[in-house]
Amino acid sequence: MIARRVVVLAVVALLAAGALAQKKGTDGFHRLSPAAFAAMQDIRPQNISTQDRFLSSDLLEGRGTGQRGGDVAAEYIATQFALYGLKPAGDNGTYMQKVPLVGVTPAPDTTFALVPDKGAPMELKALDEYVAYDETQQPESNIDAPIVYVGYGIEAPEYNWDDYKGVDVKGKVLLMLVNQPTDDPKLFHGKALTYYGRWTYKYEEAARKGAAGAILIHQTDMASYGWDVVRNSNSGEHSFLKADGAPQLKAASWISRDVAKKLAAASGKNLDKMMAEARSRDFHPVALPVRLKAHMVSKVRPFTSQNVVAMLPGSDARLKNEAVIYTAHYDHFGIRPDMKGDNIFNGAMDNGTGCSILLELARVYSETKQHPRRSILFASVTGEEQGLLGSQYLGEHPPIPAGRISLDLNFDNVLPLGSPEEVQVSGAERTNFFPALLETAKEFRFSIRPDPRPEAGYYYRSDHFSLARVGVPGFSVNQGIKFKGHDATWGLAQEDEYRDKHYHQPSDEWHPGLDWTSDASIARFGFALGWEAANQSAEVQWKKGDEFEKARLDSESR
Ligand SMILES: [Zn+2]
Repeated sequence: MIARRVVVLAVVALLAAGALAQKKGTDGFHRLSPAAFAAMQDIRPQNISTQDRFLSSDLLEGRGTGQRGGDVAAEYIATQFALYGLKPAGDNGTYMQKVPLVGVTPAPDTTFALVPDKGAPMELKALDEYVAYDETQQPESNIDAPIVYVGYGIEAPEYNWDDYKGVDVKGKVLLMLVNQPTDDPKLFHGKALTYYGRWTYKYEEAARKGAAGAILIHQTDMASYGWDVVRNSNSGEHSFLKADGAPQLKAASWISRDVAKKLAAASGKNLDKMMAEARSRDFHPVALPVRLKAHMVSKVRPFTSQNVVAMLPGSDARLKNEAVIYTAHYDHFGIRPDMKGDNIFNGAMDNGTGCSILLELARVYSETKQHPRRSILFASVTGEEQGLLGSQYLGEHPPIPAGRISLDLNFDNVLPLGSPEEVQVSGAERTNFFPALLETAKEFRFSIRPDPRPEAGYYYRSDHFSLARVGVPGFSVNQGIKFKGHDATWGLAQEDEYRDKHYHQPSDEWHPGLDWTSDASIARFGFALGWEAANQSAEVQWKKGDEFEKARLDSESR
């Protein structure tokens, strides 16, 4: 026992120093074969830094989706995959998976009015009172339809919750609340947001039910962001996956709370009371005596971007038809020509770091003497900053059917801060891989940092979620706030400083003072997890009753 602990400590010390020694054997990492251990040890902080330096250089122009810099980045990543000898897993024997996109910009001649049966119509002011996109991707659409209040707009059989109660809402405009009912801790996940609480779900469900439009009522406390955030993220061009024939909303919109109050009053109702009523399981849709009359005018711009996908074939004759996938988005915000001064959004952290980790993983996997039993997919995806679009397309068009992808490990924004003593793997606890993950974390001497704000629903805001919704168990692998030689306050301060000063700003840049031990450690941890998932006998599954369990069962029966 003691001898083994000494070896563990020695191995950890080597890892922490970023050392390349392979001599200590695998006793400490008893879950990895000698070949795998050697490959993991070969992950180099310097390589990750070097990749990041290039990907985030001004020459890459901020890797904008559908812009030249983004395309250069994709071509560069594909070139690296080719140099490593990985198999192309994109379209027609290439590394590129084309992602058809459409940019939609609401035009100033759009009109959006609430028209009560009795009383004066309310012509709403764009951006101040409402925001709206035409998801049908047409240059013009007209809506003249009654508004139906559907509470939270949730239909969740696994929670025995149905706001629609079978009411036909085809062609109607649905007024809804964001978030989910939280009064009862046994309902949904108590305060932790499920996907049913996200605004994207509300739009999707409304479209599935054939509604003409959806209106979300904004509330700062419920959405966990203010109206200015809604306003800023809903002005200018928005990108969508090209419509594929599925029903779409002519107006996917938000209104401010003040407008919602007026709308309630025009219906002879009280907004607070309406909101309280939605918190009951017995809630029933309410037809309001108000119509939405809208003329939606949009500038529509089709374009193409690409995911970059490669594969390392597995070594087991049967299991090689299954895979573990690593994902990291390469896109960022590109260049803003109208901005004064530095207008290149380099995205060195977001997500140069994740891409560079992915590339280093691809390199060491390709150099291992013996491949894992399942195949390994490496996917650097586009359009994350536009709403997880590249990964959504990848999930809907996977190179290996989703039911045969065991696990997705995603990397997004791994700040080069030093030697982590803590990891964040929110969502992993929802899978049956969690016990194995805890064992691996122990070998790395990592403690687990729980999701600090489950009510904010971060799980649904990064690319692993796109895989989860087609059933693939997945989560992001990142560090926590405890680093060697520092206390948690220091780690938190670093995180805050990045978020306040550099996140989604042109100053998110590479510089020589960064400590890439972070990224190498997270890459090694990700390597060990992926290797284990690729070798274990059964595929990873969601735990019973999880919101993605049904998608998994559906994908496996295909
Ligand atoms: Zn971002």
